[in-house]
Amino acid sequence: MASLFEIPIEHLNGIGSKKGQLYRKLGIDTVGALVRFYPRTYEDWSSPCPIDKAEVGDTVCIKAFVMQPVSETIISGGRILAKTRVYDGSDHLILTFFNNRYIRSMLKTNEEYLFYGKISQSGGYKEMVSPVFLRPDVGEVVHPIYSQVAGLTTKQIEASAKQAVAMLPEVIIDPIPDYIRYKYNLAGLKSALTKIHFPSNMEDVKKARRRLIFEELLVLVLGLTSIKSIAKKRSEIVISADHTEEFVGLLPYTLTNAQKRAIGDCIDDMINKKSSMNRLVQGDVGSGKTMVAAACAYSCIMEGYQAAMMAPTEILAAQHYETFSKLFKGTKVKTALLTGSMTAKQKRIILQALSNGEIDFIVGTHSLISDNVEFSKLGLVITDEQHRFGVRQRSDLLAKGKNPHLLVMSATPIPRTLALMIYGDLDLSVIDELPPGRQVVDTMLIDDSVRLRAYNFIIKNINEGRQCYIVCPAVDNNETGLISAVDYAEDLKKGSFKDYRVEVLHGKMKASAKDDVMQRFVKGEIDVLVSTTVIEVGVNVPNAVIMMIENADRFGLSQLHQLRGRVGRGEYKSYCILVSNSKGQDARRRLRALCQTNDGFVIADEDLKLRGPGDFFGSRQHGLPELKIADLAENVGILHDAQEAAKELLDEYNNKDNLLLRGLRAEVRMLFNNAGQQLN
Ligand code: ADP
Ligand code: MG
Repeated sequence: MASLFEIPIEHLNGIGSKKGQLYRKLGIDTVGALVRFYPRTYEDWSSPCPIDKAEVGDTVCIKAFVMQPVSETIISGGRILAKTRVYDGSDHLILTFFNNRYIRSMLKTNEEYLFYGKISQSGGYKEMVSPVFLRPDVGEVVHPIYSQVAGLTTKQIEASAKQAVAMLPEVIIDPIPDYIRYKYNLAGLKSALTKIHFPSNMEDVKKARRRLIFEELLVLVLGLTSIKSIAKKRSEIVISADHTEEFVGLLPYTLTNAQKRAIGDCIDDMINKKSSMNRLVQGDVGSGKTMVAAACAYSCIMEGYQAAMMAPTEILAAQHYETFSKLFKGTKVKTALLTGSMTAKQKRIILQALSNGEIDFIVGTHSLISDNVEFSKLGLVITDEQHRFGVRQRSDLLAKGKNPHLLVMSATPIPRTLALMIYGDLDLSVIDELPPGRQVVDTMLIDDSVRLRAYNFIIKNINEGRQCYIVCPAVDNNETGLISAVDYAEDLKKGSFKDYRVEVLHGKMKASAKDDVMQRFVKGEIDVLVSTTVIEVGVNVPNAVIMMIENADRFGLSQLHQLRGRVGRGEYKSYCILVSNSKGQDARRRLRALCQTNDGFVIADEDLKLRGPGDFFGSRQHGLPELKIADLAENVGILHDAQEAAKELLDEYNNKDNLLLRGLRAEVRMLFNNAGQQLN
């Protein structure tokens, strides 16, 4: 197999330098790469579906007799409309072809054919428009369908794949050891590689896929585990005592059990261990992650180290700074804020104090990773709302210290297995409990027809002294078709809300202007804040009780849930109003799911099913290598198996003298080198 990766794709018949370039466009540079270029899908001609079982919208193969001669009519533009009717013993099906003058001679009455196409509805009958058809004796197989590029059809790729698969050696040494293959009931590599391209039936496809998905996930898990053990090796900063009890004395409330557990995990990681903490704390919006961070920072600082917390927006950084300043007032902890919008002079003072150790706890934005930021004794790095950062930014901040401890916080509640994949180099603590007395936010889905009633409802709440957010998907009119925050705010000021204080907030505003608006909203000087999703993360305004979201169908469910988390943070009953005029079934189903649950994990699962994992993180951002066949959202069962197998194999895998796992090691290197991550 290895050697096929050394044979250029042009070696195959019918591929010259021109075609070769097209193959390279698909990432296929060698014969081996073509063997590993799996079909995108299949046309299953192997098991025809009875017509009465075929549903409208299904793409199926039908095996049926032509019942009458093909009729031809001339329609607009002089085109020929050819029609006939077929029957398979279960039901009739109408066939329609456009502009194909040969149909009449090709389809013979009373003869049987296989037809492949999509079932539609025509009058009271099922219909197939322009199906592909074959004689049963040549047709009953499964055809691979490949991703194509212009100039290279799936049929051509199929022909080349046939040659490539034929070049596989008689016996392939399987990278997965026999005992693992038996235990997890996996096909052998050669059989899987052959059948994935040329299956006899869909059962073959299933077996081949399972084997190849397992292999890919096993390779991924082993790779991530080695990153983890590399990360685990380094450490210097040792906390020798837990100061959490003292810290708790500063709080106006008691910690939830989940918070205590998370803090306990972190302290345990940091105390007297040879390696740095490397932990993700994941908890739904409002679960109280900030205090987990503060507790960890406190213990570190009491032990003579500095702590740094990076937040994705200035607003959030400023809010954390305020929270911590208040909390640590009267203690020896000196807190400071660093953001891009501060004046050069302000920054200079902070940077100086940071590098000579006068500041214990610095909260800031990306500006914390600027070159001129230096610490005297950085012991703990915290990133808040990690899904807004890249793996790179996290490591840039870490590089400011000598292997400091790392605490990553995220409100994006992704299923545990997926979290372990994506943050494979991190340990995980989940805060699965909200502080007591939290109000459930009532969520409703409305359309334009009741907009005025919704406005009146908002006004009623404002009159009672409360505040409201209205979120729009676009900043201005450049993004066509979407409601823009700027215009919307203008309309409100002139119309329904002319007697109220309406302001707009969006990402294109200057940082100082944003800050000003947000501060005034916090102080209660603004009744309605019309905003883009800049307010998505973190900010805390307990007096705000309504979150209205325009064009709600344009957002991911997790994002909507995050926005909803901005209200219901105080003592008042709170509401989330989703506005959508979308008639789409899927869109409405998604939004209704949000009305029915407040559990971020359920919502994340739903999102994952509908939109795939890419949405949780800018796709490359999570730093995972690109997968060829496995799908982290769909193949959760196989992922579990692969994780278990990885555990069983780990000792052998780490023993570099063990030749049995040579193949797997090579695959791990290949997968991660492609992703730009060097592994030893
Ligand atoms: P998130 O996990 O979304 O970052 P925060 O840390 O901002 O949540 O906490 C949300 C709110 O809950 C804050 O106002 C905070 O003061 C409050 N809070 C946090 N922990 C507790 C607790 N144990 N009991 C009561 N209120 C808490
Ligand atoms: Mg937070």
